[in-house]
Amino acid sequence: MSDRDPRSDFPILARRVGSGEGKPLVYLDNAATTQKPIHVIETVDRFYRQENANIHRGVHYLSMNATDAYDRARERIAETIGAAHPAEVVFVRGTTEAINLVASSFAGDRFQPGDEIVITRMEHHANIVPWQLLAQKLGVVLKWAPVTDSGEIDLDAFRACFSEETKLAAFTQVSNALGTINPAKEMVAIAREFGAHVLVDGAQGVAHGMVNVADLGADFYAFSGHKVVGPDGIGVLWGRRELLDSMPPYQGGGDMIARVSVEKTTFRDSPERFEAGTPNISGAIGLGAAFDYLAGLGWDEIRRREQDVLDYATERLGEIEGIRILGPADTRGKVAVISFTMDSAHPHDIGTILDTEGIAIRAGHHCAQPLMDFYQIAGTARASFAFYNNRDDVDRLMDGIAKVKKFFG
Ligand code: PLP
Repeated sequence: MSDRDPRSDFPILARRVGSGEGKPLVYLDNAATTQKPIHVIETVDRFYRQENANIHRGVHYLSMNATDAYDRARERIAETIGAAHPAEVVFVRGTTEAINLVASSFAGDRFQPGDEIVITRMEHHANIVPWQLLAQKLGVVLKWAPVTDSGEIDLDAFRACFSEETKLAAFTQVSNALGTINPAKEMVAIAREFGAHVLVDGAQGVAHGMVNVADLGADFYAFSGHKVVGPDGIGVLWGRRELLDSMPPYQGGGDMIARVSVEKTTFRDSPERFEAGTPNISGAIGLGAAFDYLAGLGWDEIRRREQDVLDYATERLGEIEGIRILGPADTRGKVAVISFTMDSAHPHDIGTILDTEGIAIRAGHHCAQPLMDFYQIAGTARASFAFYNNRDDVDRLMDGIAKVKKFFG
């Protein structure tokens, strides 16, 4: 393991939280959003202090510079995710908007009543609700691939959901609620056997260095900047260029047009076609900076750190009686997320008591209610780790859980 401690790059990790003097923060809610390194904070700060201007069509210095920086961010991201061309990277608000864009512009434009879409029981609501809305509107049919008791996809059961009517499979690369790493490549291959298109929800996968869209072989890949140490309100829809160029616009407005006349409007190709209006310029530049930062740290190092903390936390939690960890038992089949229940305490009580100790976890259904229904529970307590967490954080979590046990027995 490298000697360099990335914690010092994240100013917020040095703060205390809570009333009075507070407690040193232990941030274990990274699946909800990650903290931001100085490099990203300073990049966004510098943009607003020195470089701010609207992009495209500006003939003045600042506008041209901002346009260059925005375009460079797109190129950086395209390179990082293995896109064939920067034009395949569409800036959106986040994963949710990316999936809605595909549902509206791709599926909404070409699917017919009776066409089928395969999703899985472990999806985040962002990859369920847009398809349900489409089902209501168009009469397409949703097929739900089941999960096993250990929260994994059984490929035979997944395959059984496909038919000649299947037009799209939309599934997550990594479960936000359990941490399960899905066999996404194999799932893409199954969808292809049936001639279906594929959208992969990369909201969780991207943070753990799992994105190479060329290798994955899907048609669309969606992720959010804020989950990968980047800013809020910026994300990416990657799509195959020929597909994007064949899709109608999602929203209309400035910047996405080739020509507007009284009679009609013609549109630009991707990505501008899908970026109507002034985009989140500082967000895109900040996201480029986030990927620069992560590349500097090294994805192998990031994964090594996360695996170490996951293995240690799993071992220590396993020692506590009355705790049930949901999801794959083998920590190599998951990312650094531990979703658990306690016999004696409700997840919200666990979260509240941990909070008094300065420990931030998430409690609830994690926007995955169909998965919670499968387990017949209302929710779980979820500790989700990033590369800047360490074994001391795990020890603090264990002390906090000991307090929960003392309180509830
Ligand atoms: N998909 C998954 C797997 C997620 O974990 C999340 C957020 O938690 C989303 C989609 C939605 O992401 P956002 O709220 O950034 O659009």
